Amino acid sequence: MFLTISTTGTPERPATDLGFLLHKHPERAQAFSTSHGTAHVLYPEASAERCTAALLLEVDPVALVRRGKGKGRGGAPDAALAQYVNDRPYAASSLLAVALARVFKTALHGVCQAMPERAAAPLPLRIEVPALPARGGAGLVRALFEPLGWSAVEVEPVALDGEFPEWGDSRYVRLVLEGELRLADALNQLYVLLPVLDDAKHYWVAPDEVDKLLRAGDGWLAGHPERKLITARYLSRRWGLAREATERLELVRLAEAEGLDVEDVDNAVDESTDTEERPVPLAEQRRDAILAALDSAGAARVLDLGCGQGQLVQALLKDVRFTEIVGVDVSVRALTVAARRLRLDRMGERQAARVTLLQGSLAYTDKRLAGYDAAVLSEVIEHLDLPRLPALAYAVFGAARPRTVLVTTPNVEYNVRWESLPAGHVRHGDHRFEWTREEFRDWAAGVAGSYGYGVEFVPVGPDDPEVGSPTQMAVFTRTDETLKEVTA
Ligand code: SAH
Repeated sequence: MFLTISTTGTPERPATDLGFLLHKHPERAQAFSTSHGTAHVLYPEASAERCTAALLLEVDPVALVRRGKGKGRGGAPDAALAQYVNDRPYAASSLLAVALARVFKTALHGVCQAMPERAAAPLPLRIEVPALPARGGAGLVRALFEPLGWSAVEVEPVALDGEFPEWGDSRYVRLVLEGELRLADALNQLYVLLPVLDDAKHYWVAPDEVDKLLRAGDGWLAGHPERKLITARYLSRRWGLAREATERLELVRLAEAEGLDVEDVDNAVDESTDTEERPVPLAEQRRDAILAALDSAGAARVLDLGCGQGQLVQALLKDVRFTEIVGVDVSVRALTVAARRLRLDRMGERQAARVTLLQGSLAYTDKRLAGYDAAVLSEVIEHLDLPRLPALAYAVFGAARPRTVLVTTPNVEYNVRWESLPAGHVRHGDHRFEWTREEFRDWAAGVAGSYGYGVEFVPVGPDDPEVGSPTQMAVFTRTDETLKEVTA
């Protein structure tokens, strides 16, 4: 079972840089033990002009059978023979993909401290998989790889037996990919598509496989014409999971189509660690102000819209008055971080029943968000392009219609007080706009009027007599609720 990765170079940019990018030295053959056998990395050629790394997986058939016990294919007792007479040890397959992820983990994430600019740039690549099991045949292999930026995708059926061509083709193909791609992109494609073509995953698909798939498919899967087949096969035809993945990919695709850069959106979630903004104390003051406002509104069931990495969700969980907390974000990466921060997987049952994380875009109405006491939009509106704001207003105030809505956003007037912020700059690269107090009031008053809410404004952070506070917060209350109180 093996594949080779080759690149070409020049004396200034020697091909042997591949060794740095893969984090495997060209002059050393290395072996790694994996759960299914031993993976070897060696370099059949390594010169400035041409360098080839080979990944070879020596599968231990006994370990494979033992691990497979009772787990789908190869595990049933009547499949005993198949356990020994199968192609696993010889063909590239999902096992090779697992070995690839284990041996080239850092390269797969596109990280290379020694030469970051080389890792970030496309390089001339040639990847060969001599025996690729391909259910769906050469046509499907082409349909999967051709949309991914390769200049040549060569797929050659492998004859069942070279001496007896009349026996026809086996279910294997020889695959050669050539083109200028980022190494990390090429590795991520293989990591997903090798098991898809093999279509017989050797291990049980756990729910976090959806996250793994979306992570490895970042930047190419959402727009792939065969994304449905890829998702269904990758998740071994477990339709529930496949549907979840398809829905999430669809949202990413919509976000991309709208010009909402998902990368930027993801970067935006690191805002709270951006020391330039001195945000740590301010972020805390913001959370305190939000908690206080929720408390005085008597809210128990709360939506955190654009929850990012889940800091507010975490704070809400600590207070038993909040019985139901729903974090919503468009970014899978942010939600993954949030789930980890909250230790969702290790949470006790009662605690876990109080919290839900949902992926969704606030630019669309969403039935799941109806019927809550309050919604918080903390530092979210400025991440949307201005023309999308009416859609967000409709989705939140028109469709979800919680009794209370809290919206915070930076006050641009205060920016002159940030010593490190050059004049005329916004506080974060992904902010599409930053408003003066008047602009925010105008927008908020308009929304309140259109949807039947009253609105009040609360400064958050030091309230400067000239320029106001760094964060501005609007507290919206549904008018029919206010009336109820007055008449009660
Ligand atoms: N509320 C958090 C995070 C603010 S950063 C806090 O106060 O710290 C803005 C967040 O809004 C990001 O996590 C981003 O992914 C999310 N976001 C941006 N546009 C969105 C949209 N259209 N739908 C849902 N979330 C969105």
